Amino acid sequence: MTPRDCLLEARALVLHDLQARGFADADTVSLLEDAVSGRGWWVDQWDEGTPFVAGLVAQDLQDALLDRSTRWPRCTACDLTAEHSLAIEPELGTDPHWVCREAGMVVSRLGLLT
Ligand SMILES: [Zn+2]
Repeated sequence: MTPRDCLLEARALVLHDLQARGFADADTVSLLEDAVSGRGWWVDQWDEGTPFVAGLVAQDLQDALLDRSTRWPRCTACDLTAEHSLAIEPELGTDPHWVCREAGMVVSRLGLLT
């Protein structure tokens, strides 16, 4: 895949997971666009990083949302009742998944959150 295709795919996967949890409002989508364009610059500098872009865009958006005190996506998969978020693993790798680190379980592939 070209870097541009990967960026479009990353945008689509993350947008799906925002929509799945009711977070795809204009402000959040604008933060997503910022994350995608930031990683567009990054992948221009290092094109071996192309396969890692989707997972990185998701993590960049999580960070940007956390700066606004918004946790996304919340874990609804395990038995722990305290509020906690899912995390992307691997942090830098191919085939990114959402995992619950509290329960040590894989919840979903990126882009397939329900
Ligand atoms: Zn959990």
